[in-house]
This record gives sequence, structure tokens and C-alpha cells, in this order.
Amino acid sequence: MNYAKKFKVDPNSKVKLDEIDAGYKGEHENKESANAELEKHVQRLRELQYLMYAENKRSLLIILQALDAAGKDGTINHVLSAMNPQGCRVYGFKTPSPEELAHDYLWRIHQATPRKGYVAVFNRSHYEDVLVVRVHNLVPKEVWSKRYDEINAFEKQLTDNGTHILKFYLHIDKDEQLARFKQRLDDPNRHWKISESDYAEREYWHEYQKAYEDAISNCSTKDAPWFIIPSNHKWVRNLAVSQILVDALESLGMKFPAPTVDIAEIKRKYHAAEKEEKREDK
Ligand code: AMP
Ligand code: MG
Repeated sequence: MNYAKKFKVDPNSKVKLDEIDAGYKGEHENKESANAELEKHVQRLRELQYLMYAENKRSLLIILQALDAAGKDGTINHVLSAMNPQGCRVYGFKTPSPEELAHDYLWRIHQATPRKGYVAVFNRSHYEDVLVVRVHNLVPKEVWSKRYDEINAFEKQLTDNGTHILKFYLHIDKDEQLARFKQRLDDPNRHWKISESDYAEREYWHEYQKAYEDAISNCSTKDAPWFIIPSNHKWVRNLAVSQILVDALESLGMKFPAPTVDIAEIKRKYHAAEKEEKREDK
């Protein structure tokens, strides 16, 4: 299954979320059957991230957006645990601080974009500025409606400068969200995740769907595409995200840099040192 092809939102298409099956399973019936493939992707992801770090030429920005309980944290846990923390950073964007609000909305975002060789994962992002901000009228429509173009220009600037961008919307349906809220209520270890606002935001389900549809439709571009990932089944989500990441990284044609030293010469020195060591041991 080519998940990238299946779930990528073509530029200029009009997304209708209620026409997309959040409970999609594809070719696997359950988690067990998907596991071997998932493990393979996770391994490959580890190698590719190492290569990106070694090459030190370009970077990867992964943006995760979704409604509460759709699995942003879970995706980071499962899929991105493959990566070496040395070259990977995760940023969660919360309600802006007074300092952040005193700047333009992209200010805090730009500071978190990945440097060459690094992967950055955004748990929420500048898209909140056309989502929660729109749903709750935090700024007037004249302001947020201009942001789609601004975001496209910002992302273009990043991709032009060597940052590869992949954006994932984790799509669950309303029943699945309620079921997950219940699981949290039933598990004391997950009580800390529950917030008053989860239920309050659920009241705005329809408004959020519309805001997401516009954000995704307006900002899925050739170089910074959106993917809508059916996420009622966590293993489908993990499999799809990991495969899309692997395919994207493979397509970059990354190479280990040429050694900065004469390897033959270093080998010769190593063998000489080894011989010396052995002689001393005698
Ligand atoms: P969580 O990801 O569950 O920790 O929640 C973070 C909260 O921060 C969510 O309720 C978001 O809607 C909110 N948030 C993130 N970015 C913004 C933003 N730019 N403006 C307003 N609220 C935001
Ligand atoms: Mg939350």
C-alpha cells in the first residue's frame, strides 16, 4: 500500500473530512498483522535519520495536528522513538505566552524550525493560528483569513532553504474521541491528560472540522503537503505515518559525506599502533 499517495492532499483540492473514513484499515486486519511492516519502517527511519544527521545538509520538519485524543502524543511515542535524540527535537505549542503574543504568530514557530541535519516534530504548530484562533474568534476574520497565504509563504521559505516539510492531520471521528476520553477516565495513569477544555472543545467539533478543512485545502502544497491519516486505529496511523516518512526521506537521495581524512593513512596508523600494543603485551 502506498500510503503517501493514498492520503496526500493534492494542492488546490477541496477537503471534506466527513467523506473520509477515520476507521480505515487497508490491507491489515489488526495490529498484529501490521506489526512486522511497522517494525521494518521504524528501523529504516532510524537509518535515514542517522544519514540526515551525518550529511548535515538539510532538515525535516514533521507537523502533527489533530483534535484532542486523536493521537499526537502516541504517534510521537511509537513512530519517532526510532530516532536518535541527538538529532531530533520535539516541540509542543501551547496557548501563547504574553511574550509570544507580543510578536507575530510565526515568531515562536520560526525559532523551533530544525537546523541542518536535524528532525523537528511539532506537536501543534502555526496551524493553531487558523484553527483554535478562528473557532474561538481570538482575532478577527480579516486577520486569520490572510494567514493561509502567509503560512504558505513561510513554509516555502523553509523548503527553499533545505527543510523538508510533512504535515499530518490525525483523523478520528466523534465517537472514537468519546471512547478515548472514557479510556482516560478508566485509567488512573492517564487522568493527568484529562482537561476541562477537552469536553468544551468537543462542543465545537463541527467548527473545528470546517477550520481544518480550510487549513488543509489552502495549505497543502507540492513541497509542504498535508496528509490526512485515518486514526481510529492506532496501528493504521503508525504504519501510515512511518511509511510516509521513510518514503520521503528515501526520495531525498541523501549521502554520507566524504571522509575528511585519508582513511588508508588512518588504517595504516591503526595497524601500526595495534602491532606496537601487541609487542608491549609480550
Ligand atoms: P495540549 O496540546 O493538549 O497540551 O493543549 C495545548 C493547548 O494550547 C490547546 O488547547 C491549543 O488549542 C492551545 N494552543 C496552541 N497554540 C495556540 C495558539 N496559537 N493560540 C491559542 N491557543 C493555542
Ligand atoms: Mg490535550
